Amino acid sequence: MYDPRNGVDGEIRDIWVRGSKIVDPPTDPQVRAETTIDASGLVVMPGGIDMHCHIAGPKVNMARKMRPEEKRRDAPVPRTALTHSGTMGSVPSTFATGYKYAGLGYTTAFDAAIPPLDARHAHEEFADTPCIDKGFYVLMGNNHYVMQCIQQQQPDKLQVFVAWLLGAAKGFAPKLVNPGGVEAWKHHQGGNVKGLDEPVDFFDVTPRQIIREVAQAADQLNLPHPVHIHCNNLGMPGNWRTTLETMRSLEGRRGHLTHIQFHSYGGGETDENTFNSKVAELAEYVNNHPNITVDVGQVLFGETTSMTGDGPLGYYLQNVYGGKWFSGDTEMESGCGITPIRYRNKSLVHALQWAIGLEWYLMMEDPWRVVMSTDHPNGGSFLAYPQIVRLLMDRTYRQDVLKTCHPAVRKRSQLADLDRQYSLYEIAIITRAGPARILGLQDKGHLAPGADADITVYTPHEDKETMFALPRMVIKSGQVIVDQGEIRGAPQGKTLHVAPAYDDDAEGDIRQWFEKFYSIQFRNYPVDASYMHDPQRVACGDRRPW
Ligand SMILES: [Zn+2]
Repeated sequence: MYDPRNGVDGEIRDIWVRGSKIVDPPTDPQVRAETTIDASGLVVMPGGIDMHCHIAGPKVNMARKMRPEEKRRDAPVPRTALTHSGTMGSVPSTFATGYKYAGLGYTTAFDAAIPPLDARHAHEEFADTPCIDKGFYVLMGNNHYVMQCIQQQQPDKLQVFVAWLLGAAKGFAPKLVNPGGVEAWKHHQGGNVKGLDEPVDFFDVTPRQIIREVAQAADQLNLPHPVHIHCNNLGMPGNWRTTLETMRSLEGRRGHLTHIQFHSYGGGETDENTFNSKVAELAEYVNNHPNITVDVGQVLFGETTSMTGDGPLGYYLQNVYGGKWFSGDTEMESGCGITPIRYRNKSLVHALQWAIGLEWYLMMEDPWRVVMSTDHPNGGSFLAYPQIVRLLMDRTYRQDVLKTCHPAVRKRSQLADLDRQYSLYEIAIITRAGPARILGLQDKGHLAPGADADITVYTPHEDKETMFALPRMVIKSGQVIVDQGEIRGAPQGKTLHVAPAYDDDAEGDIRQWFEKFYSIQFRNYPVDASYMHDPQRVACGDRRPW
């Protein structure tokens, strides 16, 4: 058993399960279990947790429609007596998404970017995404009401709004995507903000203020997960300075910087050198600042679909790659951009992105604060997670892949010199225990009594990609749902959300604003409980350290 939260590193243990929970072993030695699973010789871990992916909502659905060529190419998921049919490609259909996560031993996933106006859509799709527990982050980094509160220097009003918005959307955490930049994009062709201190048109607030104030509101509300930040200037040479400034702008408050790989580039106008890795500089800062956590957003070679709440980024990528493109604005809330992308190992930029992602895993001293992600499907599909495990656990394999990459990668990153190999214990941290802790989920990511009985059993194998691609068995909420790669059960899975307390009197102002500007009425905006199929409210303020 590998259970890092409880310090269990490859020990032989029994796990007792009753209903959907792990429980203490019975005190009466006469008590026998109804069912016993003999896992001797196998590797047992908590179910995997993907804390940043795109699997539901309007943008994901649009991407499915945009990529019929992928869906024609990939074998469909056939219907069985237990399961629905589905389609694959880089953006699998809803049911297929649930089955494929389960097939990999993942039992929880969070969609990272839902416009609250479209929260209903996300919840409806979640109802059709079986086998996993799920939740989503609520886009608010370009929300007009948020920016207005900051402009008027009313942090209390902002805190009420953040609480109300999370509760109304039945979301899990506040998400900032290119704060301020998406709003600028809505006003000018190619519009964006370049730095943290560039004011946003009409609001006269800066990205730095948005980050600091929303982080503060999240802190004050004691949310289980802090502000989740997609920094400004994603993908741009020299953006590491913006990323470092973003970390500094938190001023000691908790913050999670997502797909940090895409934000760790040297070069451009502010650096003398050309496009290169700045992971060493950034990782040093994160290593020394325990308030900051990151997930990687690993790039893998091959074709995928880029989809982002970062409208100007979608436009930029479409200009680079010249493929089809979708851009959307969601009223006063957010935007989005979608375009196909192909990462090539012979491309210097792509190979560097691949190396930079791996550098993050290998240069973070504390594995509890770096989480495995591909920003599915942006850097690659979540189906590539077993390949990332192998890249981290097997340096010979890593060096072999590096040899196939553009040769200049060796000069512009330190990957060739990094000998570190992850252990199974560390893999269990970056895929289970760490994300559970960062998300504030007390019942997930571990195997002690009280935990959800989400358990993955692997057959040890020298090739770690093989080992992690095909778990021997997956147990979700106490039920065997995958056995030897076959789906044996497809429970709906819970929807995890927060409902922070706030002063009801303050709703009047939000209502007025709504009636003035929104396309729908205030009373119709909050997601009704009937949209939630198996909701689980995660308490605020319950941040027991572990
Ligand atoms: Zn993302």
